[in-house]
Amino acid sequence: MGNILSGLKPEAIWKHFEEICEIPHPSKHELKMAEYVINFAKANNLEYEVDDVQNVVIRKPATPGMENRKTVILQGHLDMVPQANSDANHNFEKDPIKPRIEGEWVKATGTTLGADNGIGVATSLAILEAKDLVHGPIEALFTIDEETGMTGAFGLKPGFLKGDILMNLDSEDEGELFIGCAGGTNANITFKYNKKPAPKKHSAFKIFVKGLKGGHSGCDIHLGRANSNKLLFRFLKQGEKNLGLRLVAVEGGNLRNAIPREAYAVVMIPKENVKAFEEAIKQYEAIIKMEFAAVEPDLSIYAEKAKSPKNVFDKSTQRNLINAIFVCPNNVIRMSNDMPGLVETSTNLAIVKSDDKTKKVEIKCLLRSSVDSSKEALEQKMAALFELAGADCIFDGQYPGWKPNPSSPILTEMIDIYEKMFGKKPEIKAIHAGLECGLIGGVFPNLDMISFGPTIKFPHSPDEQCNIETVQKFWDYILETLKNVPVK
Ligand SMILES: [Zn+2]
Repeated sequence: MGNILSGLKPEAIWKHFEEICEIPHPSKHELKMAEYVINFAKANNLEYEVDDVQNVVIRKPATPGMENRKTVILQGHLDMVPQANSDANHNFEKDPIKPRIEGEWVKATGTTLGADNGIGVATSLAILEAKDLVHGPIEALFTIDEETGMTGAFGLKPGFLKGDILMNLDSEDEGELFIGCAGGTNANITFKYNKKPAPKKHSAFKIFVKGLKGGHSGCDIHLGRANSNKLLFRFLKQGEKNLGLRLVAVEGGNLRNAIPREAYAVVMIPKENVKAFEEAIKQYEAIIKMEFAAVEPDLSIYAEKAKSPKNVFDKSTQRNLINAIFVCPNNVIRMSNDMPGLVETSTNLAIVKSDDKTKKVEIKCLLRSSVDSSKEALEQKMAALFELAGADCIFDGQYPGWKPNPSSPILTEMIDIYEKMFGKKPEIKAIHAGLECGLIGGVFPNLDMISFGPTIKFPHSPDEQCNIETVQKFWDYILETLKNVPVK
């Protein structure tokens, strides 16, 4: 076993973290990590359970005099994101992570470090192992596969946990306490169209929308960036109405959780309107550039002559499709009343893609909300719209959100403790993206939940690094909080 980190404080965390670095544990390959924590439980005579999806819970009784306190669940995930520089030649399923100290930081060597969430896991193990702490009953929950689908959190069953308070140790900025996240739903919409022979005396063009910033469909949705699908269909709507535009093919976006940056459509324009079309697209680009000048300086919209196609969409489906996408909810739907600045509900019109072989247009959106009923209302609205347009609309992949509770008892306690220890208030935050807390709270609705951690920069990249000093602060803070957990 390595001892590169052995001088670092708190020793109890870094010792376990260095052992974790030795165990290959990319997402979907957590078996060895699960075995490691199970063997740890056995070696320390602690009760443990493993569920069907390979989540592990280890229980430690209260220290003397603390038996009447609420039970705290310490939670971290067993997997890590496997990202390596191309010259690192690293096999994440076999090779250990090689940690090193650089100034104030612990980094890996050419790969992700796995401090996300290895530090959280190591912290739970350090608390379970310690003989000199003061705390009430502890349950340490180790989930699998957080990074590629939250399979572990999805698989949790009622009864697996008995605790009252959940501390998720998977946040990445010391001094911030997270109290909410968004849930999600996938919307999958299908238009079926009939092919009609391409009209005579028409010219074909390909319209491009390019150069947009894109971004994460949750975390960046409030930034006012343009959506390439929306921009494209706004033009198609005008073109259909004013220029007799006929649709041949359309494609925009490629990831459900990314704001689409590019879109194109192949169209046919009656020959007598070609000049007007070329003029219209120039004007449209100028208008959009003006509207989005502050956020999308590099956007461009233009058309090029295209090869004449054999077929076009039937008129009625074309109209329904263009109208529906033109009207389809997109972007921020509502801001939170509980947390100023937090997006409560949003949707991203991520992908629109026609397929000439199946004669279908597939549309994919991702709806998010920290309030489950708001997300359901948005689902109903979208279903209503696409039903009117004659399309099929199927929702799947639903997972619950975590509605911020600014008067949560553990939050109140932890703000107080932080101020006393560090002389300033922690920042209270929520995130408009998925966290395991949303899923866990869905199964255990009475949990009082909070998420925090030491500072980790550039997670999910080979530059991932963990700030050493904040690990000590985080350790002191969690121990003080455990001492002060309220009576049951
Ligand atoms: Zn994580």
